[in-house]
Parts: sequence; C-alpha cells; structure tokens
Amino acid sequence: MAKMYYDKDANPEALKGQRIAIIGYGSQGHAHALNLSDSGFEVVVGLRESSPSADRAREAGLTVAPVDEATAMSDIIMVLIPDDQQASVYREYISSGLEQGNALFFAHGFNIHYNQIRPPEFIDVAMVAPKGPGPMVRQVYQEGGGVPALIAVEQDFTGKALERGLAYAHGLGATRAGLLETTFKEETETDLFGEQAVLCGGTSELIKAGFDTLVDAGYQPEVAYFECLHELKLIVDLIHSHGISGMRERVSDTAEYGDITRGPRVINAEVREEMKRILDEIQTGKFATEWVLENQANRASFATMRKVEAAHPLEELGKKLRSMMSWLNQ
Ligand code: NAD
Ligand code: MG
Repeated sequence: MAKMYYDKDANPEALKGQRIAIIGYGSQGHAHALNLSDSGFEVVVGLRESSPSADRAREAGLTVAPVDEATAMSDIIMVLIPDDQQASVYREYISSGLEQGNALFFAHGFNIHYNQIRPPEFIDVAMVAPKGPGPMVRQVYQEGGGVPALIAVEQDFTGKALERGLAYAHGLGATRAGLLETTFKEETETDLFGEQAVLCGGTSELIKAGFDTLVDAGYQPEVAYFECLHELKLIVDLIHSHGISGMRERVSDTAEYGDITRGPRVINAEVREEMKRILDEIQTGKFATEWVLENQANRASFATMRKVEAAHPLEELGKKLRSMMSWLNQ
C-alpha cells in the first residue's frame, strides 16, 4: 500500500518562523497563498513587475514583491508559474536568491525530473501537488476540508524536507483529506501519460473518431454531436461517482452488453501497444525534449496544429449547439 499522511502526521511547527514565497498567482498560486496565509504562515507572492495578478493579490490582503525579492526574503519558495516558463524564470530571478537550507517546492515534477531546473545541492527540493484545480483547493479549505495531494522529496539537504513538505500541505488543507507519497519521477511520468493517453489525447480522439464515423455514414452532425460528445459528461460523472461497474448498473442492459463486447474492439491490443510506446517516449525523455525544443522554436508546429484542430467540423457545430444550452456557462 502507498504511504499516506494525514493531519496527525504533520507538524506546522516545522515551518515556524519561515517565510513562504508563492511564485505566480494563477489557479494554484492564489489558492496556496491564501490558504497558507489563513493558516497563519507568513506569505509573500512573487510576481513580474507588470503582472496583471498583482492587484488581485494585494486586494486579497497579501504582500506582493518581484520574484527575485520574494525569493531572497523567503525560506520556502513554491514555484507556481506555468511549467514551460519555470526554467527561464528560475534561471533569471530565483537561482541567485537561494540560500543554504532554503527549500524549493513544486506542484508538478516536469522541470526537476527532466533537468530543466538544476537546483544547488545546499537546499531541499520537494513537491506538494494538489489533485484538484486551484479554485477547488481554496473553496474546500474555506469549508473546513481539504483537497488530497501528492508529496515527494527529491533532495533532502536539511534532513527535514519531508517534515517541511508535510507542514506546508497541512497549511494548504491537504492533510485533512490525505497526502499520498510519491516521487518526482512517478508524478511526472504518470501525469504526462494520463493527459496524453487517456484524459486529453485519448478522449479527444475518441470523440472525434466516433463523430466522424457517424457523419461519414450520412447521419446528421447534430445527432452525432449529442451522442459522441454531449452525453460523455453524464457517463463520466457516473464513473467518477460510482466506478465503472456502478456506471454499468445505471445504464440499460443493452448499453452494458454493448460496452463489454464492443469496447475492447475500440481500445484493442494495437491501441494498448501504442500506449506503451507513448509511455516509453515519456520515460526516455523523448517527449520532454520535443516539447522543450518546440517552446524554444516559439511553438511553430504547435500553433499550426492548434489551428487545424480548432477547424474540425465538430468544433464549429459545437459552438452553435452549446449556445442553445442555457445551463452551460459559456
Ligand atoms: P496558471 O497558468 O493558472 O498560473 C500561472 C501564474 O503564473 C499566472 O497567473 C501569473 O501570475 C504567473 N506567471 C506567468 N508567467 C510568469 C512569469 N514569466 N514570471 C512570473 N510569474 C508568471 O498556472 P497553474 O495552473 O496554477 O499551474 C502552476 C503549477 O501548478 C504548474 O506547475 C502546474 O503543473 C501545477 N498544477 C496545476 C494544477 C491545476 O489544476 N491548475 C494542479 C496541480 C498542479
Ligand atoms: Mg495533470
């Protein structure tokens, strides 16, 4: 069984007198800054001079400083800017402000695992990664609960890296729900695999393939949209709340029989082999190299592919159909 930590395992005293810099004030940043501040920690938000988020952070009662100053005045530096920006911001504004015994924290392992950031050996490096979007991390905390999170230690200079991570997670509210111990390698590789093979990549292509098959066979695109995209939410909600068997109990026997007999023909042995190749590209760093180089090329291919994807008939049609659904907040 995986190691789990709860409130009783965390000692907030491990961060007593230590200032926490939250670099970035987006989805995760605002939630971490506000929860930790409400939990009694001293927090400073590190932002670019021109950042549009600075006013929001100040209005919320937080102290704001440029990234280099926030780093220099803090003991714990949590990096919550977009993953593709982290390496350059680290090089330019964070690295020179790190002092012996500081801790560099992340909410995703990409830049450490793939060597885009190489921290000095005289600091702790750890991860506290909530398994939910920032607004949820904030709201659930305010309601007295917590969103579960992953915790990992990559480098333990002080011998207290885990304790400090646990205290941070306690302030965030995560230990109220449970903290699962992992490694930077495991978190990074499974996160990338999940979004590529299942959550984003697999799901998008499954929807498009189903839609195209129906439309090519002469069915009305509107009907194909409802069947292959719109109703997906109902099924995913059932799976999320009740598991796969629970979903099957709640659909018709016809649907369940079709699911069990036809599903494995869609996600067949060939697809499973391809999933292994995708995982291999993640494990070997091939994907990471491709993505880092793509960013260095100012996303030349990515920009073009995005346009092609957005032009799929499903997308135009979807805009029209969703505007008829008053209950969707656009
Ligand atoms: P985000 O895009 O919502 O926010 C990024 C913020 O960083 C911006 O709002 C801005 O304040 C700041 N910023 C952007 N560029 C900057 C720069 N060059 N210099 C200084 N500040 C800059 O990002 P996010 O979704 O909160 O992700 C932050 C980290 O948390 C990432 O490592 C991500 O993988 C991780 N994470 C995100 C989620 C999630 O649900 N969003 C969940 C778990 C972990
Ligand atoms: Mg993810």
